[in-house]
Parts: sequence; C-alpha cells; structure tokens
Amino acid sequence: MKTAFINIKELIQIEDLPKKYVSGKEMSKLPTLKNAFLIVENDIISDFGTMDNLPNNIHFNSIIDVTDKLILPTWCDSHTHIVYAGNRVQEFVDRIHGLTYEAIANKGGGILNSAKLLQKTSEEDLYAQAATRVEEVMQLGTGAVEIKSGYGLTKDAELKMLRVIKRLEENYPITIKATFLGAHALPIEFKDKKNEYLTDVIENILPTVAKENLAEFIDIFCETGYFSVEDTEQLLEAGKRYGLKPKIHVNQFNAIGGIQAGVKYNALSVDHLEAMRDEDIECLKNTNTMPVALPSCSYFLSIPYTPARKMIDAGLPLALATDYNPGSTPSGNMNFVVATACIKMKMTPEEAINAATINGAYAMGLEKTHGSICRGKKANFIVTKKIPNYNFIPYSFGNNHIERIFIEGVEI
Ligand SMILES: [Zn+2]
Repeated sequence: MKTAFINIKELIQIEDLPKKYVSGKEMSKLPTLKNAFLIVENDIISDFGTMDNLPNNIHFNSIIDVTDKLILPTWCDSHTHIVYAGNRVQEFVDRIHGLTYEAIANKGGGILNSAKLLQKTSEEDLYAQAATRVEEVMQLGTGAVEIKSGYGLTKDAELKMLRVIKRLEENYPITIKATFLGAHALPIEFKDKKNEYLTDVIENILPTVAKENLAEFIDIFCETGYFSVEDTEQLLEAGKRYGLKPKIHVNQFNAIGGIQAGVKYNALSVDHLEAMRDEDIECLKNTNTMPVALPSCSYFLSIPYTPARKMIDAGLPLALATDYNPGSTPSGNMNFVVATACIKMKMTPEEAINAATINGAYAMGLEKTHGSICRGKKANFIVTKKIPNYNFIPYSFGNNHIERIFIEGVEI
C-alpha cells in the first residue's frame, strides 16, 4: 500500500537522519520543504522531497493532493494522566467562588477524592472513560502519548490503572507509554505515615508492576508537603533495580533539589519546572535528561510558567506536554500548549513545534520512530487546513487548523 501526498505547501520538521533532540539555539531551526511530496508505505514514511523530484516510476495506490495545506508530524505528548474516573468540575467552579483547598477537599475535590472515586470504578468503566479521552487527543493531532498511574494509591487500583493503559495501547493506533506514579500523593489511610506508604509502594506495588511488565517509567511527586528528595532517591533507586527509567514531577511550586536527584538517576525527563533556580538550569546542562514544561497547567492554575526563554538561552533543550488530568489541566490539546508556549513563555513557533514533536518524542524514548518527518519513521502526521504558514498555528490560538490526521499511515 503506497500513498503519495502531493503539492504540500510546506512539509514541516523534516530530517534525513533521526536526531535525539534539539537544544539551545538549534531549537530555533525548524527544517521544512516548500512545494513538497510525501510518500507513505503502509505505516512508514518511505520518502519525501520537492515536487520536481517526485518519482514518476512508482505505482501509487492513492494520490492525495494537498494544495495550499501544510503537513507536520503529529504531536508527542510526553506527560499525561489520561486514565482517571469522573471529573473535578465542581472543584473548578468552587475555586472561582474563592473556596479554600481544604473546603474543596471537604466537598469532594483533590487528588485523594479522585483516588477514592477511581478505587470504586470498575476496570471496564475506567477503560471506557479513558478511551474517550484517547480518541479526543488523537482528533487533536496527538500521535504518541505517555500516561501515568497515580490516582489509584492502593495496589489494586494502581494495577487497574496500568492495565487500562496497556489495553489502550493494544487497542488504539496511537503509541502509548506507561509510567508508574504510585508516589503521587499520600493516601488517607497513610496520613502521617509517609515512610510506610513509600515502603508499600517500593516493596509491595512496584515488584508486581515490574513482574507484569505494566510500566516502562517510574515517577514521583517531589515537592514540599508530598515526597522529599530523599524519598525520590529511594524510589528511583528501587525503580532502577527493576529497570524502570525515571520521569519525575519536580519544581512545580518549590525548588528543593528534585532536578539534581533526577539527573543523578539519569532521568529521561524532569517535568513541570515552574520554579527554577540558576543552579537547577546549570545542573541540567550536558545531561541526557529532558526538561518538560506544562504550560496549560500554569494557565489553568494561574501559577508561573516554566522559564523557557532562560532555559533555552542557557543552551538547554525543552519539551512541551499537556499534563492532561482532572485537577490541574483538564485538557489534552497540544495545539493550545504550543500556542500558550509562544504567547506566555515567549518561545518562537519553531521552538514550540520542536518542543512538541522531536523533543516530546525523546521524553518518551520514541525519538527513533516519532517526532519528525523522516524516512523509516512512523507515518504519523497532520494535514492542516488551508493556512498561510506554520506561525499561524500558535497565532490563531484556540481555532482548529487540522483537516486530517494520519497515525501509522491510517487516517483517523
Ligand atoms: Zn503531572
């Protein structure tokens, strides 16, 4: 099965050889081809070039003319909590009315209430709810996504979440990576007994997660009032024994050394980073750890944005992700994330698109197969509507510029 897309106004994020990621000044370069073709063979990109070089000796099963439209790789969303039960819309309204966190928790808000509800929800129901969200993000142009556990907070419920993630991966063409986030919050039953809970996560839940091969990555909420740097190191050490790579929540509200712990354990990514000290930026230089910003979380909570400008200007790479979750980011829209990164974090469109494609792929260990238009990579791409250029995507924020989406060569 061979398909040719012809007369592409601009083919975006092309590369001849897959690179790991882009950082610093390189992030401002977005390689493109104008008046281009793209050839897809089954689920793989087999060729691309300018229209004057379109091979005329190949038989195509179909030819799709995309005159005046752009093609870019699908988004790579490296940080989400898509599997959850119900929603926290009442909490949203209560917050507008000025209720305190405690009052909200008493009325049924907060992570612990999300956990209580998830524990009671059947696996079938949880799967159905999450599947709706996976379909939603695919329609928004996401072609690869990471999903975390962490709303279970008991062995049964955490395993239930991870099994749901596995089933989603099996049933949808979008690539899904699973992360074990047992140390997301302290369950009510372990109030004031943090060490006991951490021991339970490490000695009781983690071995089963590893044995049943339910996660590739391990995560922890390293934050004042949640889990300390020492807790983080203890968990990452345990994860390492089972071959789980760290991708961790750090520096959301306070900089307490979580980045340093992540780098020490060779984390694939450190995520959030709204509170960044100079030493945190310094620590990330020349490492394999990708910093990940979550601007729609900052938007929703009205908290500071990750200082992207300062980080990129210091030579660091940066990835963008949604953090799709019921409490702080009930949205999985990477188009909005890209626009918000430009509008609020002063990233250029080139930097934001790099951050949401190639760097996002790296933050999931998918840089060899996703994140760019490259021969041999997955045929995952977005065909836009007739828009003037790629700058228009973040500029005309909140509008839908996507006309068609192909994942693994199939239109969805
Ligand atoms: Zn998160």
